[in-house]
Amino acid sequence: MLQVVSINLKQNTQNSKSNLFRIFNIFKTPTFICWSFFYAKLHAASIKIYYIFVNMNLYNIIIIGSGPIGIACGLEAKKKGLTYVILEKGPIVNSLFKYPVNMQFFSSSEKLEIDEIPFISREAKPSRSEALEYYRRITTSNKLNIHLFEKVTSVKKREEFFVVSTTKKKYQAKNIIVATGFYDIPNTLKILGEDLEKVSHYYQDPHFYAGQKVAIIGASNSAIDAALECYRKGAEVSLIIRGEEVGQRVKYWVRPDIINRIKEGSIKAFYKSEVIEIKENELQVTNSDGNITIENDFVLALTGYKPDFSFLESMGIELSTDDKKRPVYNAETMETNVKGIYLAGVICGGLETHKWFIENSRVHAKMIVKNVLVS
Ligand SMILES: Cc1cc2nc3c(=O)[nH]c(=O)nc-3n(C[C@H](O)[C@H](O)[C@H](O)COP(=O)(O)OP(=O)(O)OC[C@H]3O[C@@H](n4cnc5c(N)ncnc54)[C@H](O)[C@@H]3O)c2cc1C
Repeated sequence: MLQVVSINLKQNTQNSKSNLFRIFNIFKTPTFICWSFFYAKLHAASIKIYYIFVNMNLYNIIIIGSGPIGIACGLEAKKKGLTYVILEKGPIVNSLFKYPVNMQFFSSSEKLEIDEIPFISREAKPSRSEALEYYRRITTSNKLNIHLFEKVTSVKKREEFFVVSTTKKKYQAKNIIVATGFYDIPNTLKILGEDLEKVSHYYQDPHFYAGQKVAIIGASNSAIDAALECYRKGAEVSLIIRGEEVGQRVKYWVRPDIINRIKEGSIKAFYKSEVIEIKENELQVTNSDGNITIENDFVLALTGYKPDFSFLESMGIELSTDDKKRPVYNAETMETNVKGIYLAGVICGGLETHKWFIENSRVHAKMIVKNVLVS
């Protein structure tokens, strides 16, 4: 019995040895060598095709946001022969589209021009509708490559390029320009009733408020313009101001108007006051005299807006640690601490949203494209 087992073991070992030898010999056969060579070639070709495909879809620049400054960047990239696409979550110049319908810019039209393309307006300071027309015409007549109603949801760095994901698809680019402005996220009051339907952080048309009791919270240009317009369309306006006077940055030709309307009692102003609760038909306001109740139909909380900091941080862009939360960038090139990601327009100011506007940030487009060309 033992003998049989040992013979079998011997035979098995010899068999497996000869099997191994046979397998090893296959590697040496011309057929195997040919097949391996063929597969290696095929693999290399598929890698090549992949990279050609990536490069075909690899833009020099992806611009996020089609505000006036995003459009200026697209125009400059096109002029310099770079491949680019502008990705915009809304219509062309979405922020301007959301501005009050009767709004007039404080800048004269030539100061809002991009690339020295003449901006002709009826008066020295153009209206919102003239600005919409101007920036739309630049986009369409220059056939800028723009994808509208497509929100960028993430930007991720790969080896040598960025992968940009949107609500519709993915793109690749060597450089990114973030021109997302600050008009999408309002500074909220964080009080009870703020989520009621009658409360809005955006003001559009005074007609809507005719014959209504409207409380306007804020003392800056937007709040004061809204207060005057609504009053003139027959609304009963209460202005709730946290400080002790109308904002000092209110346009110099508008400030006397509001101060006189308050003096004559046409518009009621509550200084050093804060709204503590919003109810269906009234507001609770607190000031040095204690708590007061104001009858109310609509609330316009025009207390400013802030950039989307979490979007910036998700790309690795650092913010200053003080209360301004300014994004980190090189003031000469506009490149952030992330190589290949640039900032353009009002986004640069962090919480100092008044620091940058169209007039002084339109230059960013040329600065960025110049740097992209040399890097
Ligand atoms: C009432 C008012 C009056 C003003 N008057 C003047 C004036 O007289 N002169 C002046 O120089 N400036 C003025 N400004 C400021 C000026 O309008 C802004 O400075 C200008 O809009 C900034 O341009 P921007 O391109 O940097 O940003 P924006 O115009 O805000 O554009 C940002 C764009 O990015 C898009 N976006 C945001 N996030 C995403 C995303 N994730 N994916 C895709 N798209 C995205 C937005 O939809 C938007 O279209 C005024 C502002 C206000 C509110």
